[in-house]
Amino acid sequence: MNIALIAHDQKKDSMVNFVIAYENILKDHNLFATGTTGKKIMEATGLKVHRFQSGPYGGDQQIGAKIAENEMDMVIFLRDPMAAQPHEPDIQALIRLCDVYKVPVATNIATGEILIRALERGDLQWRKFIKESKHD
Ligand code: PGA
Repeated sequence: MNIALIAHDQKKDSMVNFVIAYENILKDHNLFATGTTGKKIMEATGLKVHRFQSGPYGGDQQIGAKIAENEMDMVIFLRDPMAAQPHEPDIQALIRLCDVYKVPVATNIATGEILIRALERGDLQWRKFIKESKHD
């Protein structure tokens, strides 16, 4: 599965701890991230992460483009609900595309844990059929 990991600055430590905790599950998947989030994950773990631009420089849009190609199977996006982001339109667009393409998306760590458990159980295998049939 292709998994996107994004964390706003106040949530980056949580993301790193989350990835460390679930490294054993995540190592079997293709990981993608916005620039700084990906850098921090790679520094803290042995995981390889494909890094896009930093979020404010277009990274969310690049991940959105992957979603629009139906190439992203899960998004864990730890947003900071307490601070305005300069790239808020990009964030909204990314989450909207998750809804358009029915991509499981977590915007906080509690839901992120549920998605990772679901991933481990194989609950997301249906994404393979969706990808094969493309748009309906
Ligand atoms: P970053 O981008 O991982 O490059 O910090 C995330 C964001 O702030 O949207």
